[in-house]
Amino acid sequence: MLMPESSGSMILLIYAIIMSVAVYIIHKIYVKLRVMCRKFKKKMIGIKRAYNKLKRWLSGARKKKNGQSRYIPSAVKREVWARDRGRCVLCGSRKNLCYDHDLPYSRGGTSLDANNIRILCRDCNLKKSNRIE
Ligand SMILES: [Zn+2]
Repeated sequence: MLMPESSGSMILLIYAIIMSVAVYIIHKIYVKLRVMCRKFKKKMIGIKRAYNKLKRWLSGARKKKNGQSRYIPSAVKREVWARDRGRCVLCGSRKNLCYDHDLPYSRGGTSLDANNIRILCRDCNLKKSNRIE
């Protein structure tokens, strides 16, 4: 009780030190948590990427079964269009046309040979797929 003012400021100082240490520790924990979160996120992104890669690889492996894809090159399309004169080869319709694999792609039919591609209208294409399945 000799120096009340000084002891009061001493308590205040100690209080301030404790507070700043507490804030420092909390900040440390916060930073650590944030880093952990970021690492976790990165890991999740990595897993996701690996999963997508695997999926792509699997579908790619299926697509490249015969070293080709379902996609019909435009050169083949032009050839087929000229040969079939822009009509459905079955009914002669000029509406709702599409390129059709004669031997279905899923059964190993090629997209690269015009002989396996023909023009069908939507109706004939539907009839065809009903017949096969
Ligand atoms: Zn047709």
